Amino acid sequence: MKPVICPYCQKPIEKRDQLVTVSNMFRIRPYHYVCYQTVERETRTIWSFWTPVNGVAGNIRFVFLLGIAIWFLTTDSLGMGGELVGVIAFYNVMIHLTAYFLYERRVPK
Ligand SMILES: [Zn+2]
Repeated sequence: MKPVICPYCQKPIEKRDQLVTVSNMFRIRPYHYVCYQTVERETRTIWSFWTPVNGVAGNIRFVFLLGIAIWFLTTDSLGMGGELVGVIAFYNVMIHLTAYFLYERRVPK
């Protein structure tokens, strides 16, 4: 498999615990943990929606969003508004899965 390249330092990410996958709307990027901290510092002043999707916090959010998606897409709670919430949650679930299959799975532990 091709190595996952960090867009910041252009070097391959070799270990799973160095990897941070972040998402911003439809874009997903893999960074080294240290590189992401630098990127985050540099972009803090700009309106930024980059959010890490992996790690413990990401996994908790994944389970939470999956629950919300299933709940709102399979029940009639809140009517159309509920459907919208369900779709947004579902979209986030897809981001998590894509990040996992695209990057996380390719980086050895
Ligand atoms: Zn890097």
